[in-house]
Amino acid sequence: MKLVLKADRLIDGTGTDPVSDAALIIEDGRITDITSRNNLAGLSDDSDVIELNGGTIMPGFIEMHSHMHCSAETDAYQHIMTESDQVFLMRAVGAVRTALSSGVTTMRDLGARNQVAFPVKKAIEDGIIPGPRLIVAGTPITTTGGHCNMFGTEADTVEEVVTAIRNQFKQGAGYIKIMSTGGGFTPGTNVRAPQYPVETLKSAVKDAERLNLRIAAHCHATAGVRNCVEAGIHNLIHCSWLAEDPEQGYDYDPDVADAIAEKGIWVDPTLALGRLNRMRGRVRVAGGTMLDPARRFEILRDMWDRGVKFVTGMDSGMINARFDDFAYIPEVMVDELRISPMEAIVCSTKTSAECLGIAEETGTLEVGKAADAVMVKGNPAEDIKAIHEVDTIVTQGRVVKRNGDLLI
Ligand SMILES: [Zn+2]
Repeated sequence: MKLVLKADRLIDGTGTDPVSDAALIIEDGRITDITSRNNLAGLSDDSDVIELNGGTIMPGFIEMHSHMHCSAETDAYQHIMTESDQVFLMRAVGAVRTALSSGVTTMRDLGARNQVAFPVKKAIEDGIIPGPRLIVAGTPITTTGGHCNMFGTEADTVEEVVTAIRNQFKQGAGYIKIMSTGGGFTPGTNVRAPQYPVETLKSAVKDAERLNLRIAAHCHATAGVRNCVEAGIHNLIHCSWLAEDPEQGYDYDPDVADAIAEKGIWVDPTLALGRLNRMRGRVRVAGGTMLDPARRFEILRDMWDRGVKFVTGMDSGMINARFDDFAYIPEVMVDELRISPMEAIVCSTKTSAECLGIAEETGTLEVGKAADAVMVKGNPAEDIKAIHEVDTIVTQGRVVKRNGDLLI
């Protein structure tokens, strides 16, 4: 039986202009045609048609950075330090359902214990629980006592880091996560200093590539960003450009930004976190100083102008970053980076799929690809806030939300 989505317009995720009065035809989980909503002759009577007047068909969202066993509550740190793996597992099952219910049809988890990450991924694939297509790193790799050691693999030397990568590969990791600097979530770690020398990161990249895996590296300190870029890390996370000296705040290096663009390294600036924290009344201090959000956005805009590719990670599970918050990412991109809504949509779909190495499968609405699509009310190409109003969700051809009714 065919499934047909009909709406006032369709945005395919490639960045081309929306198509008016469109219909997306889906069969056996894949897109078989994109046609005019008014020209559906030849469609058999048993076709299942879902229509949204005034709405837009677009690719499902790609959330590039979750921690599905973290609580996203103010006490997220206490939770991760005290809860059992069984509770983590239940949190994760809830998290993936929540994410899918908000229109996220692909999610990359960048750090959860292996005994949580891999069973949840398998349970989704086996149809036991609802969730997006899940790509998991499993335990992040960090130094002894380093950032996120409480759910990471501690590895200090080149040999230990390479072995840790091989272990993650063996368990089914689809991406490797490494903590190249300290992080705010782990008290006492230094966000303004690297955790690994460049030689270690180079060996990590070499071994990951041998196994056909890519590496995402958490980096706040500029020294850490520099190490990652030199080592050829595939995806920089946060990329905060923090100076070694807390008094100095940021230490942005445009030459390194040029190198990021030239090497084609994707950057996940987790840029909605600040807005979510302010919205929910939390004052955030990083590395001993209050950071100026305006300066941060100025730096990111400069990186964008130099040709750096941004992907859309939330860091969901961290304090105030909830699993249904995805829509704030493209919204902040438009509001603060001053890029166009269409550019923000492409980051949220096509570019993120490319970073994951799954652009042949998903990320855009094109014939032959998986049917990962949403219908939103209004026109997000004009007003990006429309992405908050998800009316219908289809993941790999399965309807999980239908004209406002959640079916999972
Ligand atoms: Zn994170």
